[in-house]
Amino acid sequence: MDVVVVGAGMVGAACAYFCAEAGLDVAVVDRGAVAGGTTSGGEGNILVSDKEPGAELDLALYSVRLWTELGERFGAESLELQHKGGVVVAQTPEAAAGLAKFAARQRENGIGATDVSAAELAELEPNLTREVSGGAYYPQDMQVQPMLAAAELLRQARRRGTTVHSGTEVLGFRQSGGRIAEVETSAGPIPARWVINAAGTWGGEISALAGAPVPVLPRRGFVLVTEPLPIVVRHKVYTADYVANVASGDEGLETSVVVEGTQAGTVLIGASRERVGFDRTFSLPVVRKLAAQAIGVFPFLADVSLLRSYLGFRPYCPDHLPVIGEDPRVPGLVHACGHEGAGIGLAAGTGKLIAQVVSGTTPDLDLGPFRPDRFAEEVA
Ligand SMILES: Cc1cc2nc3c(=O)[nH]c(=O)nc-3n(C[C@H](O)[C@H](O)[C@H](O)COP(=O)(O)OP(=O)(O)OC[C@H]3O[C@@H](n4cnc5c(N)ncnc54)[C@H](O)[C@@H]3O)c2cc1C
Repeated sequence: MDVVVVGAGMVGAACAYFCAEAGLDVAVVDRGAVAGGTTSGGEGNILVSDKEPGAELDLALYSVRLWTELGERFGAESLELQHKGGVVVAQTPEAAAGLAKFAARQRENGIGATDVSAAELAELEPNLTREVSGGAYYPQDMQVQPMLAAAELLRQARRRGTTVHSGTEVLGFRQSGGRIAEVETSAGPIPARWVINAAGTWGGEISALAGAPVPVLPRRGFVLVTEPLPIVVRHKVYTADYVANVASGDEGLETSVVVEGTQAGTVLIGASRERVGFDRTFSLPVVRKLAAQAIGVFPFLADVSLLRSYLGFRPYCPDHLPVIGEDPRVPGLVHACGHEGAGIGLAAGTGKLIAQVVSGTTPDLDLGPFRPDRFAEEVA
């Protein structure tokens, strides 16, 4: 094999697809099912709106372009890709002033952000509370159905010769001549010139097995799913405090309102963030808080039933940036993990950049900010 991808989530699927497209022989290995990790435990927003200018925003813009191309190539339906745009809502004059400043900085960095008044918000989202001070509209924000998108990219990779080994656990690695040579799995060894660590929240475990640790920690989030409704929420809608929540490193519970409709008619309500390890226990207080906050933004939700809630573990790195690129400590080992709450959106760009790394071409973006050996302190 030229490339063995560890992990068949959204990021692993994108890496496999772009590597196969570049003409490489690829095998994907996952101990569970395709998209059975965090990819099945989140939402599918592809956002530029929530990112500060810098390396992550550059990757997000690059990814938005690639998602658009993938939608054109394979059909938007095959990914449930919707160019729906994002609406950020400020509920106080102070929040509105902060949002306007944030949006202005983003505009300087290539983001199409428009300031909108309370009256314009009502036009964009007729069911929104009228108790708002202002907001911003981001036409570049879009959405996919993550499990469908991962499965579709793997299907396209398979058409280009990729093999997918689900139910196969990676147990270790063998090196030869100073670089990765083989992946040891529960189904036997697989020779590999390159190994891509796309194990998401478990990327830290895989990196430790390879002798080149990176610190990836779980950051739990709950999502509520309503009964199917006619279109009542047109955009991805969230409140201005969401950006601060995403950027925070606190271990304690943080919640901000994130609401979006899906093609199935259900409305997804998030988002909570807390560092409680891999605890899968249902939490009524968290779910109650999410529901109350969402009703504050969309009052009609008070009369809507929930079908279910689910949770996932975002792959969190201490500086909130993913780990992307070859590991200088173990030649042949390439990381593509730690995308926290943005791994669906950033998957397309990550996959393409990884394919460029293993093909020996210059990556389209500078990978310096994402380099794997930047955590000397955390992994000491
Ligand atoms: C509540 C919530 C909301 C979210 N909303 C969004 C959103 O709107 N937009 C967005 O962009 N992102 C969102 N995210 C984040 C996003 O879901 C993740 O960043 C993304 O799914 C990570 O994908 P991945 O492929 O890296 O990891 P995963 O999907 O977790 O895939 C990793 C795979 O590695 C496999 N694996 C692990 N160890 C081994 C081993 N030893 N051997 C073999 N296989 C192994 C696992 O089985 C798993 O399938 C959200 C997350 C949560 C929890």
